[in-house]
Amino acid sequence: MVQKIVFSIIAPIYNEVGNLPELYRRVKETLEKTGEAWELLMVDDGSTDGSTDEIRNLAVQDDHVKPVIFARNFGHQIAVTAGLDYAKGQAVVIIDSDLQDPPEVILDMISKWKEGNEVVYAQRSEREGETWFKLLTASIFYRLILRITDVKIPMDTGDFRLLDRKVVDVMNGMRERHRFLRGMSSWVGFKQTGVSYKRAVRFSGVTKYPFKKMLKFASDAITSFSYFPLQMAMYLGFFSAGISIIAIPVVIILRIVGSQSFLGQASTLIAVLFLGGVQLISLGILGEYIGRLYDEAKGRPLYIVREAPSKDK
Ligand code: UDP
Ligand code: MG
Repeated sequence: MVQKIVFSIIAPIYNEVGNLPELYRRVKETLEKTGEAWELLMVDDGSTDGSTDEIRNLAVQDDHVKPVIFARNFGHQIAVTAGLDYAKGQAVVIIDSDLQDPPEVILDMISKWKEGNEVVYAQRSEREGETWFKLLTASIFYRLILRITDVKIPMDTGDFRLLDRKVVDVMNGMRERHRFLRGMSSWVGFKQTGVSYKRAVRFSGVTKYPFKKMLKFASDAITSFSYFPLQMAMYLGFFSAGISIIAIPVVIILRIVGSQSFLGQASTLIAVLFLGGVQLISLGILGEYIGRLYDEAKGRPLYIVREAPSKDK
């Protein structure tokens, strides 16, 4: 009889060949301590550095390892989504494959889960070896998200978290394309708690999140959970209309009393440039949302797999 899988670990992988054997070793060592059946879903997000073969090798050696191989690079959040689709466990853990998230923390998550928590997120108490730029942008990002979105996403958490089967089933039904998983897993509700951990340095290789991907990630996060950017056009409109309502009588009175202030082109030019700028920015923001609507309307699959385990439970 096949044992029912209790724990699924999802590792999204994009060119992490140097990290995979160590990731496998540490995940295995940790999960064996639980005494339960487990699986490690290695989702290859279009790697080009030999990670794909390494995943296949590991799967041949140990059938706890389940490869999900994408047809191309679809991005980190989509890779994790595929993992969630294929995971069979009663509790599912998402972990980075560069060992910045120490697999040993999974045991703490599991004990919180056994106490009845349905989402256990890992909260970074310290981050080792990150650039000041990464720390600064991350800190601005988390504070901005907290202010302008409707979901309360706990500070300094990443995707490293445990999700109960109930939560995974709900999230698997949310097929939006521009995904911000940590927002989605807060949005669903349920009983949530955190464990704190020290974020380690990357085991090997370099970050797969260049500035461009970080920007896309941030704009997906904001547009998925907030209309604030759309409303900003209205606030700015009210603001400039308000100024003109005050300014018109002031200028008329100044003219009547013979003052020479506000004469000339400079003030006109500034007003035109300011409003032109505001209007273009507002159009751009509208474009962002419309583009996302268009993506949703096309209804393409979120990802394409070349190889994947069966989905039967
Ligand atoms: N990743 C991925 N697809 C991508 C980019 C990243 O699957 O297009 C994976 C990557 O292999 C790693 C995780 O997502 O396991 C987090 O990426 P990374 O460590 O580069 O991000 P950082 O920790 O620097 O924010
Ligand atoms: Mg990393």
